[in-house]
Amino acid sequence: MKRAFKYRFYPTDAQAADLSRTFGCVRKVYNLALAARSEAWILRQERVNYNATSAMLTAWKKTEELAYLNEVSSVPLQQVLRHLQTAFTNFFAKRAKYPRFKSRKKSRKSAEYTTSAFRFRDGKLTLAKMTEPLAIVWSRPLPEGAAPSTVTVSQDAAGRWFVSLLCEGPGLKPLPATDAVVGVDAGLDHLLTLSTGEKITNPRYERRDRARLAKAQRELARKTKGDGANRTKARRKVARIHARIADRRRDTLHKITTRLVRENQTIVIEDLAVRNLLKNGRLARAISDAAWSEFRSMLEYKAQWYGREVIAVDRWFPSTKLCSNCGTLQNTMPLSVRTWTCGSCGVTHDRDVNAARNNLAAGLAVSACGAGVRPQRRTPGGQSATKQEPLQREP
Ligand SMILES: [Zn+2]
Repeated sequence: MKRAFKYRFYPTDAQAADLSRTFGCVRKVYNLALAARSEAWILRQERVNYNATSAMLTAWKKTEELAYLNEVSSVPLQQVLRHLQTAFTNFFAKRAKYPRFKSRKKSRKSAEYTTSAFRFRDGKLTLAKMTEPLAIVWSRPLPEGAAPSTVTVSQDAAGRWFVSLLCEGPGLKPLPATDAVVGVDAGLDHLLTLSTGEKITNPRYERRDRARLAKAQRELARKTKGDGANRTKARRKVARIHARIADRRRDTLHKITTRLVRENQTIVIEDLAVRNLLKNGRLARAISDAAWSEFRSMLEYKAQWYGREVIAVDRWFPSTKLCSNCGTLQNTMPLSVRTWTCGSCGVTHDRDVNAARNNLAAGLAVSACGAGVRPQRRTPGGQSATKQEPLQREP
C-alpha cells in the first residue's frame, strides 16, 4: 500500500529560484499541451495522447523561445503531461469536467519527481539539478524501511514550501484486534461527542484565529488596486491565517482519528449530510470548523491501514430523537435542547451523548446482521466539502 508523507522544508535561495522556475515550466508545458489537444479536438476531432504531447515537448525544447524548458529537470514536465492525460481520460469517461488552463496566480504550484529525478539516501532528499539536499523538517519519521517512489514539491498561497513523499513499503501492519467499539456524533457545542460520554472540543485557538482572519479580510477589502504592494501583503496575510486555521484543524483531526482507530475495533459514525446542515445558520460554523467530511475520510483510510471497521449509519436514522435507554422516540427535539428526560423510562440524556450511543447501537445492529457497511448513498455534491484525496496522509 502506498502512503504519502508531507513535510515542510526551507529551500536555499538558489533552490527556491530553481523550484519557482520549475513550477513556471510545468505550468507552461501543461498549458501548451492542453492548447494543442484542445485545438486537435475542436478543429479535427482528433484525440492527442500522452506520447504525442511528449514528442511535442521534445520539439518545444528545441525552439529558441522555449529553450528555457531545458533549464529545469525534465521529469516534472513529463509528469504534468501524464496528469493531463489522466484529466482527459476522466473527461472522456464523463467523470470530470474539461481540463482548464493553469493560471499563474491561482493554480497550485507543484512539481512531481519520480525516482530517476531525485536521490534519497541516509534520510536526505536531493532533487535533480540540485547539489544540496532539501532542508526538510521531519515532523514525524518515515516508517522503517519506507522508500519514496514519487516526490512532490509544492508551495502554498502563503508562500510555504512542502514536500510530499509517496512511499511504498512494509510500514503498516494491522493492529491487534480489540473488542472496543465506539459511536461518534458531530456535536453542536463540541467538535465530537463519543458514546462513552467523552466530548472533544474545538481547537482552543480557533476562535481567536477566526477573529484575526475576519480583521485581515476587512483590511484586504479596504485596499484598492492602486495600493499595489500593500494589497499583496494584505492578501498574503489572509492566506497565512487561513492556512494556520486549516493546519491546526487537520492536526486536531489527525490526533483524534488516530486515537479512535487505535483504541477501537469498530467506529460508528453518522452519514451526515453536511449540505443539509449548512442551511441552519447556527450549525454552519460548527460543521465547517469540525470538517466532518475530513474527519470521516481520515477515519476511513486509517481504519483500512490498521484493520479496523468504520460503519456509517444512514442519516434518516433519528439518532437525536431516540431514547438510547428504552428506545422510545420523542416527537420533537429542537436544536436548543441540550439535555432532556425520557418520558417513558425517566432517564436524563445529554443530547449529543445520546445520539452517539444510538449511532453505535444502529451501527452494531447493521454489522451483526452481516450486512456489513451499508452501501453509501453519496448524493452528487453532498460530500463536496472534502476533496477526495487520492493520497493518504499520516498524522
Ligand atoms: Zn427512555
